Amino acid sequence: MSSGVFEKGKGYKSDVPPTWCLGCGDYGLLNAFQNALADMKADIYNTSIISGIGCSSRFPFFVKGYNFHGVHGRALSVAAGVKLARPDLHVVAFGGDGDGFAIGGGHVPHVCRRNLDITYIVMDNNIYGLTKGQMSPTSKVGMKTNTTPYGVPERPVNPLAFVLTYGATYVAQSFSGNPKHMRKVIGEAMAHKGFSFVNVISPCPTFNKEDTFDFYKKNVSVMEGNDTSDKMVALSKALSPEGRLTLGTYYVEDGVETYNDRIHRNIDIANGSDNPDMDKIFDLYRP
Ligand code: SF4
Ligand code: MG
Repeated sequence: MSSGVFEKGKGYKSDVPPTWCLGCGDYGLLNAFQNALADMKADIYNTSIISGIGCSSRFPFFVKGYNFHGVHGRALSVAAGVKLARPDLHVVAFGGDGDGFAIGGGHVPHVCRRNLDITYIVMDNNIYGLTKGQMSPTSKVGMKTNTTPYGVPERPVNPLAFVLTYGATYVAQSFSGNPKHMRKVIGEAMAHKGFSFVNVISPCPTFNKEDTFDFYKKNVSVMEGNDTSDKMVALSKALSPEGRLTLGTYYVEDGVETYNDRIHRNIDIANGSDNPDMDKIFDLYRP
């Protein structure tokens, strides 16, 4: 097999041309991700890209390597399985706000608290794109969508606060209109040992006419020099009125044992001599 390391991001592109609409924010993330791989001299054949379902979940098609386009909301379950079976791989899960925080919303907390050593990148456009413009868990109150012509009646999920609360050990936000910033935080996230989460604001010009590139270009700001070691500071920034428009690294917690470390320690114990008496345990459940 030829080398999977490329000098330039373009080398990581597969032969499948992206099928996104013209102007979709996901193109920017695809380029930034490939450039981040080139920066870290990542071997694409040791990098596994996993997704759920949705426009953004087509991501694995467009990058070379052994990738997997899964089922709706289950990107993290598959990614967890891959990482447990192959701890040597860089595992990166991609998905949208609907896939991650509605259909997959029951999976995110557990991957966070387990501190699986994987990276999860959400392309957040505050709408369902593939299924033609329904409100999503991050749509703001009052937004008019194809399923809410009188305005969204629910308060949105805050992705950064969500993962911080459940124990993610690296949390950042970026914007698909800022390639330099995306490239930097993706590199940081993939280098982090533990569960890293990046929320990328990635506008959908086809179905979301309110949260546009022009709006974000005028309104996002980049946070620098902030204290990334204090979870309460990170949480309060994420929940502040400016939080949805502030790019940056919110939180980094190093040195937390990963799920693989804990599981493999248990496997070593199970293979050793001081096994628990399994018969006694089974007896507890025998009628
Ligand atoms: Fe992108 Fe929206 Fe088109 Fe989907 S529908 S490809 S999110 S612009
Ligand atoms: Mg979406």
